[in-house]
Amino acid sequence: MSKTQNSVIINRKEVASDTLEVSITRPSGFSFQAGQYIQLRVPELLHPDPKGASRLMSIASSPLDKDRISIAFRNSGSGFKKTLQELPIGSDIEIEGPHGYFTLPRDSSHAVIFVAGGIGITPFLSMIRFVAKQNIPIPIKLIYANRSKNNAAYLNELNSLVNHDHNLSITSMYGIIDEQVLDKATKESSNHIWYIAGPPGMIGNVRNLLFLMGVDDSRIRFEEFEGY
Ligand SMILES: Cc1cc2nc3c(=O)[nH]c(=O)nc-3n(C[C@H](O)[C@H](O)[C@H](O)COP(=O)(O)OP(=O)(O)OC[C@H]3O[C@@H](n4cnc5c(N)ncnc54)[C@H](O)[C@@H]3O)c2cc1C
Repeated sequence: MSKTQNSVIINRKEVASDTLEVSITRPSGFSFQAGQYIQLRVPELLHPDPKGASRLMSIASSPLDKDRISIAFRNSGSGFKKTLQELPIGSDIEIEGPHGYFTLPRDSSHAVIFVAGGIGITPFLSMIRFVAKQNIPIPIKLIYANRSKNNAAYLNELNSLVNHDHNLSITSMYGIIDEQVLDKATKESSNHIWYIAGPPGMIGNVRNLLFLMGVDDSRIRFEEFEGY
């Protein structure tokens, strides 16, 4: 069973418009798989928050990054996020986890299609960073949807990874994901697994479209960012 571990905030930076990345020290012995999430807790809220002092956050950094764990979120004005924005570097923070099964397939002969809605990019970023560094020969197509280019966190890093990893391709788009975009991604491969991450509305929309396209449920995995 996972336990609560102490950590310290070591960095904070804007990774897109109104989108913050917070990095914390990685406790010794804390191991996780790319795609998993943690519960992040601030010892004391600087602003009131009816939902309390913790949130679930996917890990955006790679398991190969031994020094830090990074998470990223949209600024919403909630007391928890305002607190994370204001806490001085060096502040204590707690993590519990890792949790979840939204991880890469064991068999890398399966091509995967990642569909990210906005900040839903975080678990995919961890997976893509990991795969790129390990030279794992798994074909990955990423469909990355945002409201606008300003909101597209980590897009430059992802595009530069495409230049080095010929197994990775990215379709970056703005607006609502439609059947045409999904259909285009299915060309060239047939036994791929779909991974979807993002706000509940987006997950529902993409699952519906895949259903209408006749994709079997057994080939769909999703991580719903409840709370958005
Ligand atoms: C497995 C999993 C992984 C997740 N991974 C991530 C991740 O990587 N990144 C991420 O960002 N989220 C992630 N989430 C969602 C996350 O846990 C939060 O629910 C989400 O970020 C919303 O939190 P919040 O504090 O912004 O809003 P909440 O306080 O939960 O409220 C929901 C909404 O209410 C509004 N609101 C709340 N308080 C105020 C206020 N004081 N003033 C104005 N408006 C307000 C905001 O619009 C806010 O978006 C994940 C969830 C799950 C289940």
